[in-house]
Amino acid sequence: MPKSSSKPRHHVLRLTYLEQAAFYLSTSASQHSTLPTTQQTGPARSLLTHLRSISKKTQIRLDTSTKARICKLCNSPLIPDHTSETRMDNASKGGRKRCADVEVVECLFCKGVKRKPVGAKRQLKRAGRTKKDGKNNTGNNIEESLTRETIVGVE
Ligand SMILES: [Zn+2]
Repeated sequence: MPKSSSKPRHHVLRLTYLEQAAFYLSTSASQHSTLPTTQQTGPARSLLTHLRSISKKTQIRLDTSTKARICKLCNSPLIPDHTSETRMDNASKGGRKRCADVEVVECLFCKGVKRKPVGAKRQLKRAGRTKKDGKNNTGNNIEESLTRETIVGVE
């Protein structure tokens, strides 16, 4: 589902329709036909190509959940265990750090990879960081530097 509500309604409806149609086609094709998956998702892939081009042209942002289900490289729908494989990676030494957990979704057509950090907390936006930390840090730093100078001066 697209995010914006101030954009023209017919564009938003068209994007929603294309998304639903593409995922319906790809899931129903997998249940009923014996064709290889590359031929099954052809129509779904073209619908998702339309979806992305329309969202770019009309400047309507796609929802993050929608973007997570579309391959960025070949526009094929990413359906777990059907058109994509999901695994967990951890690049830390011995895989010990929980914050280094990354969910990796691999497209089975183009072998493209999407990575999403799972274990790490998301950093605050800049406005939130500078309000809290900026005042405290600058104040503390000045005081610390003053005390160091005075101590050095005494010695
Ligand atoms: Zn792909």
